Amino acid sequence: MEKSLLIIVSAPSGTGKTTICKKLLQTTPNLIFSVSMTTRQPRDNEINGRDYYFISHEEFKERIKKGDFIEWAQVYDDYYGTPKKALEDSVLAGMDMLLDVDGQGAMNIKKEFKDRAVLIFIAPPFLEDLKTRLSNRMTDTSEEIEKRFLLAKEELRNISKYDYCVVNDDVGVTVGKLKSIITAEKNKVKRIGKGLLKKLEVEDA
Ligand code: ADP
Ligand code: 5GP
Repeated sequence: MEKSLLIIVSAPSGTGKTTICKKLLQTTPNLIFSVSMTTRQPRDNEINGRDYYFISHEEFKERIKKGDFIEWAQVYDDYYGTPKKALEDSVLAGMDMLLDVDGQGAMNIKKEFKDRAVLIFIAPPFLEDLKTRLSNRMTDTSEEIEKRFLLAKEELRNISKYDYCVVNDDVGVTVGKLKSIITAEKNKVKRIGKGLLKKLEVEDA
C-alpha cells in the first residue's frame, strides 16, 4: 500500500464510540490511536497520554499559535485538537491512524487529506439511547448529559457528509463492521502500490 489511512470516527456523545475504538484497536494490527489534546477535565477512568493529553487553556492556545494541531475545535466549553507530530510519525512508519473527532474535525481532516481520510459515523439505534447510555456511564452530571444530548442532535444532522454510517446496536457487531470497512478501503484499486504493479509487470495501469 502506498499511503496509510486516516480512519475518522465520529458519533454523538454516548453512542459508544470510545468503547468501540478501544475494542477495534485491540484486534486490528497496524492501527494506532491518535491521542488528542483537550482542556476538559479527565474522567475517573481516563489516563493522561492514553485517552487524551489533558492540558490547560493557556497551553492549548500556545499550541494553536505554534501550529501544533492538524485541526482543533471548541466542543461544549472546551477545546480539543489533533496533534500534528504523532500523525506525521505514524504515517512515516506506515501505520494507519484511528481518530476520534467531532464533525468539525472530521470535515477539516477530509479537506486536507482527501481520499486518505475515511469518515465513519457511528449512530445510536434510537435517540433516547444516548441519554440512557450517558447516565449508565456515570461520568457526567445531569447538566452535562443535557448539554451533550442537545449537541448530539446537531451532530446527527451531519450524517450525510460521512462515507459510512454504522448503527451501534451490539458492540461486537459494530466493531466487526468497522473492521470490514477498513479492509475494503485498504483494498481499493486506487490504493494499490506502485511496488505491486512493478512486481506484476503491469505498465500504464
Ligand atoms: P462515547 O465515547 O460515544 O461518548 P462510550 O463509549 O463512553 O460513548 O459509551 C457510553 C456508555 O454506553 C458506556 O457506559 C458504554 O459501556 C455503553 N455502551 C457502548 N456501546 C453500547 C451498546 N452497543 N449497547 C449498550 N450500551 C453501550
Ligand atoms: P469527550 O469529551 O466526550 O471525550 O469528547 C467530546 C467530543 O470531542 C467528541 O465528539 C469527540 O469526538 C470530540 N473530540 C475529541 N478529540 C477531538 C479532536 O482532537 N478534535 C476534534 N475536532 N474533536 C475531538
